[in-house]
Amino acid sequence: MARIGFIGLGNMGLPMAQNLIKAGHDVTGFDVSRPNVEKLAAAGGKAAENANAVASGAEIVVTMLPAGQHVREVYLGADGKSGLAASAAKGTLLIDSSTIDVETARAVAVAVEKKGLLMVDAPVSGGVGGAQGATLTFMVGGSDAAFERAKPVLEKMGKTIVHAGGAGNGQAAKICNNMILGISMIAVSEAFVLAEKLGLDAQKLFDISSKSSGQCWSMTSYCPVPGPVPTSPANRDYQAGFTAAMMLKDLRLAQDAAKSAGAKTPLGADAERIYSRYAESGEAGRDFSGIIRMVRG
Ligand code: NAD
Repeated sequence: MARIGFIGLGNMGLPMAQNLIKAGHDVTGFDVSRPNVEKLAAAGGKAAENANAVASGAEIVVTMLPAGQHVREVYLGADGKSGLAASAAKGTLLIDSSTIDVETARAVAVAVEKKGLLMVDAPVSGGVGGAQGATLTFMVGGSDAAFERAKPVLEKMGKTIVHAGGAGNGQAAKICNNMILGISMIAVSEAFVLAEKLGLDAQKLFDISSKSSGQCWSMTSYCPVPGPVPTSPANRDYQAGFTAAMMLKDLRLAQDAAKSAGAKTPLGADAERIYSRYAESGEAGRDFSGIIRMVRG
């Protein structure tokens, strides 16, 4: 049993922290939203007043925050000299599971390691369902020593834990994966809309394509039309799930990374433009699979 701090108890963080409690860990949590902290306390965790109080006495701190700016602030403070880097005891392991830019992940890792702390970036795939069921995939960047310490904790929240290389490589894997996801959701949506126009029933296309070369996660686990996959958001008016705003954030991260690395990603760039238009049409809070409604016109 370890003393674990958890910062960022939103859609993903709360169920992840609850799985650590279920596994017998002593979990203290903080979120800027007080109701989220109270939910953790109701599930058997302890409530902290701020992020630095979470670090005090913790052997491990996990963060699950919206974006790079929040991670920088929690780890390094608004002044760049405080935050977890200053308040955590030497030897504490810091695990950031947020999806953020590679550059921030690497800069924060360098800064906290200078203070004698261990760090991994460990973004996830699998969504809220995966967080609740402890079946997430973790993509981990960091040293071998940090990975070996993080693995048993990550195994309580996920099923597949992959060491992707040094600091920032977890984030690199995550944005590459989500660029595939954004592109494939648009591709599957275009195919279902074309099928509608050609008089081909959606269930028939699913029955065929889910067993053919068009098969992919966007079709078989998250189908954007109601019916074929009863758990997909299409069956509940595209209530998120994984919002269009979050998909757009990840596609922008992928484009920024592609520019700085000099990689050509024309379909990724198109996907970013399409999701940007969708989010701007008032659908930012809708599930990203709702893109089919825009594709349909
Ligand atoms: P969320 O907005 O539900 O949760 C983020 C939480 O962080 C909120 O409760 C917010 O109050 C809290 N927070 C913000 N700033 C804070 C601060 N300075 N200190 C403490 N708490 C703070 O978001 P989420 O859906 O849980 O996603 C979290 C991360 O996981 C994001 O980076 C997202 O891209 C990634 N992700 C989400 C999903 C998904 O399906 N929702 C899937 C994979 C990855």
